[in-house]
Amino acid sequence: MNLRIPGPTPVPASVLQSMSKQMIDHRGEKFAELIASVTERLKYFYQTKNDVLIFPSSGTGGMEAAIVNTLSPGDRVLAVSIGSFGDRFAEIARVFGAEVVKLDFEWGTSADAGAIAAKLEGDPSIKAVLVTHNETSTGVTNDLRAIGEVVRPHKALLIVDAISGLAAIDLQVDNWGCDVVVTGSQKSWMIPPGLSFVSVSPAAWEAHAHAKMPRFYWDYSGAKKFLDKKQTPYTPALSLYYALDEALNLMMKEGLQEVLERHRRLASYFRNSVREMGLRILPEERCASNAVTAIPVPEGINVKELRKILREEFDIIVAAGQGKLETKIFRVGHVGYVTKEDLDDVLRALKVVLPRLGFAPALR
Ligand SMILES: *Cc1c(COP(=O)(O)O)cnc(C)c1O
Repeated sequence: MNLRIPGPTPVPASVLQSMSKQMIDHRGEKFAELIASVTERLKYFYQTKNDVLIFPSSGTGGMEAAIVNTLSPGDRVLAVSIGSFGDRFAEIARVFGAEVVKLDFEWGTSADAGAIAAKLEGDPSIKAVLVTHNETSTGVTNDLRAIGEVVRPHKALLIVDAISGLAAIDLQVDNWGCDVVVTGSQKSWMIPPGLSFVSVSPAAWEAHAHAKMPRFYWDYSGAKKFLDKKQTPYTPALSLYYALDEALNLMMKEGLQEVLERHRRLASYFRNSVREMGLRILPEERCASNAVTAIPVPEGINVKELRKILREEFDIIVAAGQGKLETKIFRVGHVGYVTKEDLDDVLRALKVVLPRLGFAPALR
């Protein structure tokens, strides 16, 4: 099967095998070595000297943890959204009692740093800016460097959902001033769903000390206190740590810049090939994601039917749109463990299926 959704992504064989190992004492020597080693290597991919914590959850758990650990009910929060995951971040903050100021951009475009700057200047009480690094629902990557620059002069924390972007698309956590950065295991990290990672800056720790939203399992200080003893407060998801260890071995062997470059190269190849077929890419090239490509379905073609044929006849699984784009686009994931052959397989199938469904691109 060619699983081309933007997570969960395929897992390399050696990572799958690593998970079949026996359990160990999570308060013993072996686990101490394991957590210290994976945490150090996560920092390398995060490009950070900040603390990095590991939680047993999908990405959304990491998003919720980021909110409840840094904010108090009534805090004003600027939630920047360019798609469905940006909306989710805003919603989590609202549920926990933050006063959410929403800044929406059209789906398929990236956030405008100037508009964020204007909001912050007009409202100095804003405590945090929530932003998505790579919006998986629209295949758009935000310019986090530019966003970091406009947030820096203000007191607000920069809280980033980098669940589908980090370790696939450049994100210089320290250089760009990102205070809290969340990722999930099943996207670029090439391991199954079930772990979230988060980096916490000194400013975020300072905010944490005063943050009053309720939390227990997700408490950052508890996690940090135990990490200092090379443990976790509660039983860790051991098999996923084994997987993470092996995935990081593979990623370290390749190197951060090489991993980023591979994603850049494959994504650019894929987008160009899609355009050559006469299809469009939803976003402009300058903000197109190197993790997932969103393709508007041509007039008269039904996304469900297209996905069904790809699945049943070609064993290729692509994603539909989300939210208001559900029937308007399909999405092809190319994040994590992916090769040019995997993408060629998709391109070949599209060249057969689309004309059969009536697609006749205008001659160029
Ligand atoms: C996948 C994803 C999430 C949600 O992660 P879950 O693991 O499904 O909870 C959040 N944000 C972005 C940008 C994602 O790609």
